[in-house]
Amino acid sequence: MVLFGSTVFAQVPAPAEQTNYHGIIFLLIVFLCVFPMYICLRRADEVYSSKIVWGIWGILGLVFSYIAVLILYLISSDKLRFDNVKIKSGSSREQKTQVAGNKRFGNESGWSLQSSGGSRYYSQNADSLYAASEILKNLGSIPPQTYYLVDTPDGTLGRDINGFFTESPVKTQNLKVDNPCGETGSVQPQSLTGYGDMNKNQTGVAYQKMSGQYARLILMMKCGKCGYESPVETETGDIERECYNCGIKNRTHRGKISVYTEMGVVDV
Ligand SMILES: [Zn+2]
Repeated sequence: MVLFGSTVFAQVPAPAEQTNYHGIIFLLIVFLCVFPMYICLRRADEVYSSKIVWGIWGILGLVFSYIAVLILYLISSDKLRFDNVKIKSGSSREQKTQVAGNKRFGNESGWSLQSSGGSRYYSQNADSLYAASEILKNLGSIPPQTYYLVDTPDGTLGRDINGFFTESPVKTQNLKVDNPCGETGSVQPQSLTGYGDMNKNQTGVAYQKMSGQYARLILMMKCGKCGYESPVETETGDIERECYNCGIKNRTHRGKISVYTEMGVVDV
């Protein structure tokens, strides 16, 4: 089955996620506003003369609660936008350069960690795109604001909570492969499918393209010869990509994918 063979329309998902940090502040503010209001209303029954005063306090508490909810909603929306547009893009490499003076340390699994503004960037080197995709496929689930990057001589592959990503073009010809088939012809891939949260992937790529940053939609290409699934950069139209495992050319066609955003329609 070949997915993404035709035009796909994706909607921008509404901001729905909040970090625990914001949730705690939100509950604290609501408690601080609602609890005095509750006390005020109870006291109002006991002391008739101060009913108006307590009532005003109660209304003020309610107003502050609404303002607090509004502010927190705006904060969490901006934060999501920041995740989609700025961090998962070429800017992470720029940020890495900027924070080069920060503490950098490795761990036993081979990853080097760099933290910047609440985001974590793990990186390591590998010999081939095949090795990089194996390392990234085996990561399991990835928490928000965490980015894994594997550098190879043929390009850099990344993975985050939504799926695979690249920050610059990955080589498509004469790749270093682990099990070369030695054939010069080409095959048609068995499939070209999504990986991870494709709705968020498409939206992220759309926002990055709109802001002038490098971004490509990564899809899993199942090799027509060996069946290995390579995460490859895709674009609208004819695509020729070498299998990361056997190196044979896979030729296929990807349909146009249009993403609707509040700033317009973007083809990814
Ligand atoms: Zn193959």
